[in-house]
Amino acid sequence: MRAKSVNEMSQGTLEIDIKAQGELVSGLPAVFDAVVSGQADMYHAADYYYVGQHPAFGFFTAVPFGMNVVELNTWYYHQGGHELHLELGEEFGLVSFLAGNTGAQGGGWFNKKINSPEDFQGLKFRMPGLGGAALGKLGASVQAIPGSEVYQALASGTIDGTEWIGPWADEKAGFYEITKLYYSSGFHEPGSGLALGINADRWNSLKPEHQKIIEVAAGEANLWNHGQYLANNGEALKRLVDKGVEILEFNDAVWNAFGEASNAIMEEHMDDPMFKKTFESVRAGIKSTSAWWSVAEGAYTSQRNRILG
Ligand code: CA
Repeated sequence: MRAKSVNEMSQGTLEIDIKAQGELVSGLPAVFDAVVSGQADMYHAADYYYVGQHPAFGFFTAVPFGMNVVELNTWYYHQGGHELHLELGEEFGLVSFLAGNTGAQGGGWFNKKINSPEDFQGLKFRMPGLGGAALGKLGASVQAIPGSEVYQALASGTIDGTEWIGPWADEKAGFYEITKLYYSSGFHEPGSGLALGINADRWNSLKPEHQKIIEVAAGEANLWNHGQYLANNGEALKRLVDKGVEILEFNDAVWNAFGEASNAIMEEHMDDPMFKKTFESVRAGIKSTSAWWSVAEGAYTSQRNRILG
């Protein structure tokens, strides 16, 4: 969220007072509770941190074999996604908007090459959310380590590998200092959205023009933040290669295992009606958008890059 945009658009009549982690509350679940209880008016976070509160929150960040950023935005704004976000939020007294996206996240950093699904047996790997649960199905020992502790855990051998975000953020985290094996493409977060969650009573107390300003600023943040990642990831990947990092891709057998494990994890939540309804809406959105996007833009981009080099 770009609070500055809200302040500028409202000509100073609506100001967002940003609190850093730990200033008001500490820890991600506490952030959710603070907004639900009215201690804070609004959070800006990845909603998949709240799958413990409801598994359907995962769809508004990313789920394994879910939507890329184009599909997510298409679904959210044009295929009923935002309405489902609002419906889910009603259970908790929240009004929500997408407000950021990292784009596709990398497969992650490993201390050995992954040549078959069996290589995940006993592998101690850091991956949050439903993707982590899927890796557990492959026999990995999935660790939920807070972001600030991941570097040390990897350096000390507490974990054998970790996913993080993408080259730009991963370079800043310094994982290349520990291992040079980086899988660039992952199944677990194909386009991770960030969201605003606003206390519904507070939202309803706002003037309509202030509500509109927040909605517009959230949309701007969604576009701006994705561009920010894209603008930095390519150059960061080149620098990582210069630092001796080997860029790898999982083979088809490993991808197939990711697919089977991810489907199994999604099935485990299907007895929840809100999860099932959102899952079916997401799958329909993927099919609908891909029917044109993959054949037109996907094919164009790969041909253009081949010809222009
Ligand atoms: Ca991640």
